[in-house]
Amino acid sequence: MGEFMSGESGKEVPHIVRAVMQVLIMEAKKVMSQEDAQALHQLESHFNHMRSTGGKWAEMSILARGAWTFSGTQSTFDIDTAEEMFSRLLTNCLTLVTPTFDPLGLVLDPLAARANHSCDPNAVVVMDGPELSFRTLKPIGKDEEIFISYIDVTNPFARRQDELKERYFFNCKCSKCRLGPTQKEDKWALSPDKLPGAWAETADVIIASAPHIVKDPVSFVGDDKSSQRLTALQYTAFSELEHARRMSEPSAMVRILEGGMKTCFQSKMWPVYRQPYPALRDDLIVAYISSGESARFLSAFVHGVKRYFQIDPVLFPQPFHPVRVVHTYTLATLALWLSSAPEDCPMDAMKFLEHGIDLGVVIFGLLVEVHDNVQKSHGQNSSFAKIIQKKFEEMRTDITRGDAGMIAQVMGKIESQWSTLRAFGLELEV
Ligand SMILES: [Zn+2]
Repeated sequence: MGEFMSGESGKEVPHIVRAVMQVLIMEAKKVMSQEDAQALHQLESHFNHMRSTGGKWAEMSILARGAWTFSGTQSTFDIDTAEEMFSRLLTNCLTLVTPTFDPLGLVLDPLAARANHSCDPNAVVVMDGPELSFRTLKPIGKDEEIFISYIDVTNPFARRQDELKERYFFNCKCSKCRLGPTQKEDKWALSPDKLPGAWAETADVIIASAPHIVKDPVSFVGDDKSSQRLTALQYTAFSELEHARRMSEPSAMVRILEGGMKTCFQSKMWPVYRQPYPALRDDLIVAYISSGESARFLSAFVHGVKRYFQIDPVLFPQPFHPVRVVHTYTLATLALWLSSAPEDCPMDAMKFLEHGIDLGVVIFGLLVEVHDNVQKSHGQNSSFAKIIQKKFEEMRTDITRGDAGMIAQVMGKIESQWSTLRAFGLELEV
């Protein structure tokens, strides 16, 4: 079954508009196979529901009209058809990503669109160029239903429910949601009344300036004073994440993300794996790297180490979870960079020496791990697996230099290096 993709990414035209234009053009020119067209029209569009959402639909309808106009298909389709297609794509598209989960656009694959959602999925969708595959996260029995996740399932219960309701029009009753807000995603580090005084004051200022926040259903913690303060802080932390995601300039992003992390960290309320704390850190690592400033690569590495030891094993328990494998690979790449350019950052080289970190061993250990898991996470023939294989071979040749015994020596050092590295990550307060 084919896919219909939007073009390359671009900030000017929203992906959804490009995708709708493309499908309208394909249909008008009859370049879509009968089978694909049929599968497309069988997908639920939730059009009537979407139209009844008032202000929200008013905004979307402008985009739908834009797609219709720019596609030049007004003589073939009426505006209702264009709006319905817009609604259908919005409901059914997955974000098109690179094998390392960088968003590129939207993809509509009728087969993937029919897989149901669970906040505790047994499969995950991995994309590789035009190919889309399901990778299992748990053993799936014959005739057992395959579930993928449409949203970030590491979010707390109320936020997941809201996102699925808003975008996909259903109340999630998956195995995890049936347990309500009782799982690790909803755990606080301390009870709300333990909020440090300075943060209680900050929260009171926030509440005074926007009293409606305490009733925000997705951030709601409780009705007593302490819980209201925590609601306000949770609301603020998520707003900061969303704010940073609308920015395009890395240093501005860094500033906002660091601010959001400060709320989670200094208030002492957030376990390190509770959202949006880990999402802020993920984005911060990316922002540090994309700033292109070599001085920030060490910061990215330290946050990456913390994520590797303290966060990913909790949020993605399977070592072969594609997101976890990509994070580990990012860490290996950062370590490679830091080890290859010590003259750029003599202070960094000193820091590793002081802590007893042998970057060569660390890089090799991380690559071994990625290499061991990539078959399950991305598939043996994926372009990502090929990149890993190549890097791994390069590294092995580099280590052996004609002496095969060197590999065993390096492997023997991994265990002790891992406790050194873990301690290094723990030193990072935030
Ligand atoms: Zn659910």
